[in-house]
Parts: sequence; C-alpha cells; structure tokens
Amino acid sequence: MKVFKFGGASLESIERIKNVGEIVQSFPDDKILIVISAMGKTTNELEKVAQHFFMRKREIAAQLLFNIEQTHIQLAEKLLGNKTNAVFTQLQEFFTEAEWTLGEKPVRQYDYYYDQIVGLGELLSTCIVSAYFNQVGINNAWIDVRDVFRTDSTFRDANIDWEVTQRQVNEKVLPLFNTTNVIIAQGFIGSTDQNESVTLGREGSDFSAAVFANVLNAESQTIWKDVEGLKNADPKLFPNTVNIPEISFSEVIEMAYYGARVIHPKTIKPLQNKQIPLYVKCFWTRTCPEQSSRKMWTAPNCPR
Ligand code: ASP
Ligand code: MG
Repeated sequence: MKVFKFGGASLESIERIKNVGEIVQSFPDDKILIVISAMGKTTNELEKVAQHFFMRKREIAAQLLFNIEQTHIQLAEKLLGNKTNAVFTQLQEFFTEAEWTLGEKPVRQYDYYYDQIVGLGELLSTCIVSAYFNQVGINNAWIDVRDVFRTDSTFRDANIDWEVTQRQVNEKVLPLFNTTNVIIAQGFIGSTDQNESVTLGREGSDFSAAVFANVLNAESQTIWKDVEGLKNADPKLFPNTVNIPEISFSEVIEMAYYGARVIHPKTIKPLQNKQIPLYVKCFWTRTCPEQSSRKMWTAPNCPR
C-alpha cells in the first residue's frame, strides 16, 4: 500500500488533473491512498472569505465565496464534459453549508471560523478528482477525512489524536481496499470530537499524507511536485539553487528549520517512526529511483 500526495499546483488546470489520473493509472497493481490539497490558490482565497466574514463584511465574503464556486464548477464542467454528474450536487451541498456559516454572527474566536471556512477547498478538489477518476475508469472511494482524523481543538494548528485516528482508519478506511485500489482523501483537515472542522496548519497536506502512511503502515509515501525535486534552498528567494540528489530525514528537518520549505516539517516524524521511505517525485516525468529506505530522492530531470 502506497500513499501519494498531490498539492494545489498539481490540480490547477484540466491538463494537470488529467496528468494526476495518468500517474495513478501507471500503478495498476498497487493499492494507493491519495491525499489531495485544495486546487491552485483556493486556500488563500478562502482565507479572504474567512477574514471578511469575521470583520462582518458579509457581502464581500459571500462574493468571494461565489467566485470560488464559479471557478470550481466551471473547471468541473470542462473536465467532466457535462453538468449532470452527481458531483455537482455534492459541490452545491458544500457551498450551501459554507453559506450557512457566513450567515452566522461571529461569536467565537477567529481561528474557529477560519477552520470551518478554509477547509472547504480540500472537500471540493477531492470530489472533483474522484468524479473524474470514476469517469475515466479509475475506480475509487472518496472519504471525508473528518470522519477519520480526530484532533484536539487547537484551531488552525490541530494536533492528531493518534489512538482514535488509528482506530477510525482501521474501521473506516482499511476495509475500502477490499473493493477498490484507490482511496481519495483530503489533506489539511480533520475534526474534533465535537464534530468541528479543524485545519492542521498551512501546507499541512504533506503531514496528512504522513499520518495516513503511519497508521496504514504504508510501504512508502510519495509527494508529487511540479518542480524537479529537492533543492538546497527556495528558488524563489535564491538564484543559484542546486538539486540535492539524496537527503536524510534529519537534514530535511534542518533545512525546514532554516526556511527551505520543501516539505512540511511535521511530515517527517510519522514516517521516521515507522521507517517509511519518503519520495519526492516530479509530477511531469514520473521517474525517480526508488531505492533504499529512509531517503528522499529527487527526480532526475523535469521537462517543464
Ligand atoms: N491547501 C492547504 C494550503 O494551501 C494545505 C496544503 O496545500 O497542503 O495550505
Ligand atoms: Mg496548497
């Protein structure tokens, strides 16, 4: 069983979503749990919705949410080639729920509302990808990870309750592999024991994937990126970055500490604890040496 994670950049166009499908189809003999982030910059857009809601600028919040709705529906229509797929009803339900939240008067802390609003992006993206996969013959099960990942109520930076999460994964996720090879789950979100949505911190989907890898005892975790692989620094900040061929878990932690955000720093521990190898692979070439454990490897060359 493998765990894959696809980030927002992997999903921001139809071409890219199709590429995700092709990647998954190139592993016909594996059971794969796929963790998916929100599409493109959706999380940033949703943050603006949450901010305006909390500042009681409700009309602006509603308009921003409507824009997100339009973008997702239009993308889904183009991707699926119709407007009748059951996924459109599901998307509508998520938006209606978000509108209800926006109709409330904010009486609790900002971080609580942030989490009720901002986690929407992952629910939308996973539904669309799941519907697309079904359409192209990739049989899959979509799960709402909030039924599985139990956390405390540290909103915006929730901590996993490993015991409950392990139990829920065993009960609700593992059996799905009896009837399908592909399970699709949201990154970044979870739920408290009061059924309140939480988020795990920005860029938290890498960590979500590592939680799944840990509790499922996965053979590996792969983070698919649209960059060539691991760099020694953030190429947006430094002009002369070089690719790192191989790196240890502790080096990743150190790099993260000095600001090179290749992977969410919380990702390493759950993998390290169970000696699960982590691969960073190029989204476009799909090639990457899968060799020894506890190493991360770069993809050799990325054509785009
Ligand atoms: N969508 C969330 C974010 O942009 C989580 C993630 O991408 O990992 O922070
Ligand atoms: Mg993201």
